[in-house]
Amino acid sequence: MKATQFFISTLKDAPADAEVVSHKLMMRAGFIKRLGAGIYNYMPMGLRVIRKVENIIREEMNRAGAVELLMPVVQPAELWQETGRFEKMGPELLRVKDRHGRDFIIQPTSEEVVTDIARQELRSYRQLPKNFYHIQTKFRDERRPRFGVMRGREFTMKDAYSFDRDAESAGRSYDAMFQAYCRIFDRMGLQYRAVAADTGAIGGDRSHEFQVIADTGEDAIIYCPTSDYAANIELAEALAPQGARPSATQSMAKVPTPGKSTCEDVAALLGLPLTQTVKSLVLAADETDDSGAVIKSQIWLLLVRGDHDLNEVKAGKIEGLKNGWRFATAGEIVEHFGCKPGYLGPIGLKGVKIVADRTVAQMADFVCGANEADFHLSGVNWGCDLPEPDLVADIRNVVAGDLSPDGKGVLAIQRGIEVGHVFYLGTKYSKAMNATFLDENGKPALMEMGCFGIGVTRTVAAAIEQGHDARGIIWPDAIAPFTVVLCPIGMDRSAEVKTAAETLYAELQALGVDVLLDDRGERPGAMFADWELIGVPHRVVLSDRGLKEGQVEYQGRRDEAATKLALADVVAHLK
Ligand code: ATP
Ligand code: MG
Ligand code: MG
Ligand code: MG
Repeated sequence: MKATQFFISTLKDAPADAEVVSHKLMMRAGFIKRLGAGIYNYMPMGLRVIRKVENIIREEMNRAGAVELLMPVVQPAELWQETGRFEKMGPELLRVKDRHGRDFIIQPTSEEVVTDIARQELRSYRQLPKNFYHIQTKFRDERRPRFGVMRGREFTMKDAYSFDRDAESAGRSYDAMFQAYCRIFDRMGLQYRAVAADTGAIGGDRSHEFQVIADTGEDAIIYCPTSDYAANIELAEALAPQGARPSATQSMAKVPTPGKSTCEDVAALLGLPLTQTVKSLVLAADETDDSGAVIKSQIWLLLVRGDHDLNEVKAGKIEGLKNGWRFATAGEIVEHFGCKPGYLGPIGLKGVKIVADRTVAQMADFVCGANEADFHLSGVNWGCDLPEPDLVADIRNVVAGDLSPDGKGVLAIQRGIEVGHVFYLGTKYSKAMNATFLDENGKPALMEMGCFGIGVTRTVAAAIEQGHDARGIIWPDAIAPFTVVLCPIGMDRSAEVKTAAETLYAELQALGVDVLLDDRGERPGAMFADWELIGVPHRVVLSDRGLKEGQVEYQGRRDEAATKLALADVVAHLK
């Protein structure tokens, strides 16, 4: 590709509403363009990355025996009424009417449609197992679309659906998808973790999320660094014995401490109505300046509802906060709870010291609020000496003192971005839609199903969260928009430079290298800044001066400086 034929549009500054680095860089590098809330144009440079991600997914899905098809974006409501999801899904499901007043939905996933296909097409056990997948536009009317394509409303997902004759065979389909997902994210060069996730009403242990590790991730993962144990914190909490699971109120009240206060007291102190959904306490040091000195002598004590997260707390976006919530000062809390300065024991926050009028716990772990066995994590180390009171980033190294459930080490917490999800569905949809096949004895039996999603566009953003520096994006080769960029200096003036650049370009192209020749005639500084922002992994600079000695300059995107390379060796070096 030649730059003049392509479309390159970079920005010096990111728009003000871009909070996370991937959103900022995708906007600045001209990968996406906002059309509405959570709705983006995928611009040519960004689309190249999306296509590469899709191709890796497609190759590995095919390798694992899945079959590609394509189901419609607009789906008749009838199928969704069969499973009850037309009503149950609530406002996240976008419903539309056609000119005849008939109901349709814009698909957020495709269980209903694929099950409808299966019940018509898969009649005999001989046709099973089967796994259908597509890579298709999805729409979810997210309550809070944000972070660019990370949590968009319209986005691209690969969703696969397996159909098996029995649970055992469905387990094999599940394992095959799990392995395929590992290969997919390995090939993309991402650092990720497969974590156990909630199975809800389905039960069992066949639900795993693939989480790309990043401080900006919306999910919290609890894992054991010395074993394979890893789970989404939502699951770790849900795993408490059913029935035995205390409400936040009960768990607070039961903490064996010398104080007199309960969760109701905390709520009363904050003038907050206490509900069953309150599940966590967040405690954080207040503002400090660069030298670490406290600017405001307060601590925050927040009761966080189950559907909020720390990003929102930090950004002050919890509605209740503006509406009747207030911050309690450390002095108030000490007085109210009758605790000695040095301990906030009565509300179960073990080991949180209060020094003078502030807490030295400069970070918060929102799952450890009550220290209730089998519900909250207990014995959490609050990392008193951490320099930055950054609620979002510093949760990473929190060591939850609990032993891992497998007994092989001590649990730790980090944040992740859910890029994929594999899920065993059992007969949930086949039962609701009567999707049966005839077994060996000619008897109808319900199909066992699994569903397997990957957020294509979210994966692109997640890769940037992991690969960037102050100058821009750093792509892994496998999903870079271009693998190599050739930057000729003074191509319009020098015949030597022009010839060398075009020859090299042709040679690399002939070898199948995804190369771009920057023939825009930009000044070197501007040209280099663009490609560092866009994140092309390999750059070759051709200039008169170098060519006189038969040399070019090569710089990998992660390299500190360029190195000289003989022009004759470039092709071998890059292919
Ligand atoms: P989340 O918990 O982030 O809302 P989810 O569990 O609702 O995701 P799934 O139904 O498991 O999502 O969908 C499969 C995949 O689709 C997710 O793992 C994620 O990568 C992607 N995905 C889901 N919602 C969005 C979104 N709003 N924007 C971009 N990608 C998304
Ligand atoms: Mg969701
Ligand atoms: Mg999720
Ligand atoms: Mg999910």
